Amino acid sequence: MAERLTFPARFLERMQTWLGAEIGPFLQALTGPYRTGLRVNTLKIDPEAFRARSPFPLSPVPWCPEGFVLEATGLRPGRHPYHAAGLYYLQDPSAMAAALLLDPQPGEWVLDLAAAPGGKTTHLAARMRNTGVLVANEIHPRRATVLAFNVERMGVTHAVLLNETPQRLAERWAGLFDRVLVDAPCSGEGMFARDPEAVRAWSVERVRRSAGLQKALLHEAARLVRPGGWLLYATCTFAPEENEGVVDAFLKAHPDFDLVDPPRPSAFDRGHPEWVDGGDPRLVRAVRLWPHRGPGHGHFYALLRRAGEAPPHRPRPESDLPGRARRAYKAFCREALREAPGEDGLILHGDGLYRTPMAPTLWRGLRVLRPGWWLGRIRKDRFEPGHALAMALRPEAVHQVLDLPLDDPRVLAYLRGEPLEGPWREGWVLVAVEGFPLGWARADHGRLKNLLPTAVRIIRWGTLEEDRA
Ligand code: SAM
Repeated sequence: MAERLTFPARFLERMQTWLGAEIGPFLQALTGPYRTGLRVNTLKIDPEAFRARSPFPLSPVPWCPEGFVLEATGLRPGRHPYHAAGLYYLQDPSAMAAALLLDPQPGEWVLDLAAAPGGKTTHLAARMRNTGVLVANEIHPRRATVLAFNVERMGVTHAVLLNETPQRLAERWAGLFDRVLVDAPCSGEGMFARDPEAVRAWSVERVRRSAGLQKALLHEAARLVRPGGWLLYATCTFAPEENEGVVDAFLKAHPDFDLVDPPRPSAFDRGHPEWVDGGDPRLVRAVRLWPHRGPGHGHFYALLRRAGEAPPHRPRPESDLPGRARRAYKAFCREALREAPGEDGLILHGDGLYRTPMAPTLWRGLRVLRPGWWLGRIRKDRFEPGHALAMALRPEAVHQVLDLPLDDPRVLAYLRGEPLEGPWREGWVLVAVEGFPLGWARADHGRLKNLLPTAVRIIRWGTLEEDRA
């Protein structure tokens, strides 16, 4: 393939040194047709139920029960109503290993330090079953917005979204989290198959620069882990300087952390201490996923555990709503819902009404994109429900629901932002496809005003047929 010829000679030379006879299959996998993965959102549907209704042929990812490889069909899975309903996230199979290795438990406090666009964060959220606290941070503001869309689409209700530097978080929250994920920016060699820009931007100098940044990030991340807590370092690159090299330097500087040897399926290779000068022998406990040994582009993981045991002080969030906002929200709940969300942690942030899982004293003063589940906004003493509320409600919790079969033309009309006809009682209506919410509409004189946020509308979408690539 043409792409293969454009790989930098130095990259090929380096990989040949490490992989030896495996270089052929490796390059073949790196340049072969790209097959994406699909991770079922277990907050909304279980994997077998999804598989039974999947419009796409799926084959299992060996290490992730909710993960599948998508066989090419011509249908664009990123533009399917089930995607809009948050039934799945398109994610590289090797990236799915992060949540399995970090293994967050319901009720824990978990931090994803570099979270956008949200693949690993939404996986962690699903494994935590929307309980405990998930802080998802992204340093770049534009990417943080995409993170917010994905967290919302997937129906995550216990996440705090931030746009901060790792340093500021470490200064504020030392020892606060049970588990921390650092999915570090890297030279992206694992992305070469689908990102020609990663190939063009590659150089040994860039690999070295990335390693410097990764060491700094991992150092900040370590400060955030409680004694006895867990830290997962991840990259999607093969360069030992950014992988074994970073973890080796970390182990030398942090004797209170040890490298854990996690259970590993057969496709998971070990780390290679011999690929870095004076590498700590414990580096064999790291995990390497290669594109020629299983589905996915390849990843590196190192699971670290901090010694000790000390439960951090974690104040619970109180409900703190001004009377005017509380009255407006309650009026909405009475009018539209059979079953309202719990009232703990209700707060007003700007004009937004949120349910925060974390006491505001912990996050005030930080750059907060969303302090919790966005329920809606207060406008002139009225409450308008937010898209994030719709996406995490069960239809049974709402009085008026327009639940459409997948092949009903109104599904696509709604996703394009068009109004819908129908004999409706004035008020809020939840629009859903096969029982999975898509968003709000408002009934007014028999018409349904479409309230799907513009950024979410699938404007170019005519029909499923038209969407064939
Ligand atoms: N975890 C994400 C997911 O699964 O969707 C992917 C994260 S991506 C590999 C790395 C992220 O690190 C990017 O979103 C990037 O904006 C962020 N980043 C870049 N420079 C950073 C820095 N100096 N500190 C913290 N994060 C940074």
